[in-house]
Amino acid sequence: MKRTSIFPNGNPGWFKKGEKKPPFTAEHKRKISEALKGKKYGKELGEIGYIGIHVWLKRTYGNPPRCMDCGVEGKMVGEKQKHWNIQWSNKDHKHRRVIEDYTPRCPKCHKEYDVANGLRKR
Ligand SMILES: [Zn+2]
Repeated sequence: MKRTSIFPNGNPGWFKKGEKKPPFTAEHKRKISEALKGKKYGKELGEIGYIGIHVWLKRTYGNPPRCMDCGVEGKMVGEKQKHWNIQWSNKDHKHRRVIEDYTPRCPKCHKEYDVANGLRKR
């Protein structure tokens, strides 16, 4: 995935060692608010949360035994990279650390659930 800096010229020059952080200039504020409106930046933030929460889920609850919707049993799949085929599906994609928000689903049911609930596009 291509990462896009919100600062086209790279480091904006804040946080230099031994210097106090200067207040945001009007230009900085404009760029930040533009970036926050932009889908790319929002998606990046979402993905950081998504990866973090799935590490937490796996560490705390392990791999889900089966899909709640179709009942298919969990197993390791994948040729190069083995991974568990049952995913933790999040009810509203807020990815809170609340197990009640998660339901084990196979990739097919996971996608169907997300599409049906407007959480992703088909
Ligand atoms: Zn399923």
